[in-house]
Amino acid sequence: MADIVVIGAGLAGLACAGALARSGADVVVLDKGRGVGGRCATRRIEGQPVDHGLCFLHGTDAAFLAAIDAVDAERIPGWPRLVAGRGTPCHPTAFDPSSRRVAFVDGVNVFAKHLARGLDVRTNTKVTNLSLDDGQIHAATEDGAVFSAHTLVFALPVEQTSALLAPVPALAGPRALLGTVCTHPCWTLIARYDGPDDPLDAEISYPPEGALQLVVHDSSKRRHPRVRTLVLQARPSWSARNLELSAEAVTAILLAEAAALLGPWAGTPSLAVAHRWRHARVDRGTGLAAPYRLALPGGVRIGIAGEAFDPVGGAEAAFRSGQRLARRIGGEDRC
Ligand SMILES: Cc1cc2nc3c(=O)[nH]c(=O)nc-3n(C[C@H](O)[C@H](O)[C@H](O)COP(=O)(O)OP(=O)(O)OC[C@H]3O[C@@H](n4cnc5c(N)ncnc54)[C@H](O)[C@@H]3O)c2cc1C
Repeated sequence: MADIVVIGAGLAGLACAGALARSGADVVVLDKGRGVGGRCATRRIEGQPVDHGLCFLHGTDAAFLAAIDAVDAERIPGWPRLVAGRGTPCHPTAFDPSSRRVAFVDGVNVFAKHLARGLDVRTNTKVTNLSLDDGQIHAATEDGAVFSAHTLVFALPVEQTSALLAPVPALAGPRALLGTVCTHPCWTLIARYDGPDDPLDAEISYPPEGALQLVVHDSSKRRHPRVRTLVLQARPSWSARNLELSAEAVTAILLAEAAALLGPWAGTPSLAVAHRWRHARVDRGTGLAAPYRLALPGGVRIGIAGEAFDPVGGAEAAFRSGQRLARRIGGEDRC
């Protein structure tokens, strides 16, 4: 039993839980992953970090930027500075003069770890079922535990929140709202190359057409990279059409495009790891303006935050919606 249970330890859930905990609430955060961060994800391959979801942080919101500034880790202000290609970034405003960009030498996930500091986060804890009774809501997990609270916050991709709400008739209203939001998938490929990391012309490139939306020179973010690493991100439309292709087939297609763009060397990595993000980014046309809060008869409160609940989109939206939901739950922002 906690005052508040937050499902999801991505940027939205951590921002929300942190603000609630600072205001004195007893908060437990549950996440099915091995670590925190969700799509703000960094893997370590033979010790070298690789950002295989979000590849840099960007935004204009003062609280978001202050939270990034508070991270005690080596940062690369302004990354990426060397940008090539005539294609469109998924967040074109990242390159507006008013927007600040930052990457971290140890990977973007240091930001999530910073937000999680001091919080009661239970990783490897997948919520599989919800039930309501006697003024409480109960979140049951895959391994048979049950977390009960008066307030439950969902900070997940909308499709995953919707699946959890489905068996509870009293939550049909918010479920219908989530049905208006559309998210796009993204196939990504981590490609490692033997040998030193010679300079490339660009830290990030946006090809004008084809399967690839962007090519990230990930090792350009590392202090002493032992090997070159690229992260290839496929376009949303291409990823949607090819979502059920095998990882091998996707790897072959994306590497062939990388070789055509950068030279034959890019087609023959020593290691290639494909990852299918089923819910990578929210479609801008369908996002919602603010986090959702519902008070049910009997005193149970439901909150929903995440990238979809703030018009700026992306990581900044996730963070802002989490903080704003915390204020609404705390009663400071009732309108
Ligand atoms: C490839 C890629 C590129 C991107 N590029 C950019 C970019 O350039 N700029 C930008 O601003 N944003 C970008 N984004 C989007 C950005 O990463 C997200 O908007 C942001 O990280 C979302 O945070 P969130 O907290 O809303 O959700 P998430 O990060 O998805 O967090 C949700 C968490 O919930 C957990 N979870 C899910 N189901 C359950 C369950 N049943 N029980 C328990 N836990 C559960 C997950 O493990 C996850 O940790 C990109 C994303 C991807 C994948």
